[in-house]
Amino acid sequence: MTVPVESGELCLKYGCTLCCHGTKMPLTNLDVNRIVKLGYKVKCFAEKTDQYWRLKNVNGKCFFLEGNKCKIYEYRPYGCRLYPLVYDWNKHKVTLDDLCPHKEEFSPRIKDMRKLMFVLSLLREQLAKSSFRIKIYAKKSHNKFLRRIRQ
Ligand code: SF4
Repeated sequence: MTVPVESGELCLKYGCTLCCHGTKMPLTNLDVNRIVKLGYKVKCFAEKTDQYWRLKNVNGKCFFLEGNKCKIYEYRPYGCRLYPLVYDWNKHKVTLDDLCPHKEEFSPRIKDMRKLMFVLSLLREQLAKSSFRIKIYAKKSHNKFLRRIRQ
């Protein structure tokens, strides 16, 4: 029998937390805001790498993993809800991640694939906005520098 990706049933059944170890899960702004509202400080649970906010590891595992449980399960990031569903950038398709030892038992629905594509579009949008801000900042700094050397 196969189960939907978002149910978390299989992970609980096997007591598996493999994907919570050495996580590199990117966070959308919606994820960050939802978790901040629970009272966590961004710097505690996330770090910026490759221009994305990603879940932070503490002692090799996700900041939120306590024993075998996620402390914010109901509020967990979209990427965690959808895993092991991932986007393969080489094959340009949505697939189940080989790193999950139980991937064969998941049955992703079209709805889940659409959700994953939506999450990816949010991340791309965030990246585009932040690089636009960096460009504006660089331009302003450059203008300031020019003004200074002309004085
Ligand atoms: S590796 Fe697979 S089975 Fe294990 S916790 Fe992650 S999604 Fe669940």
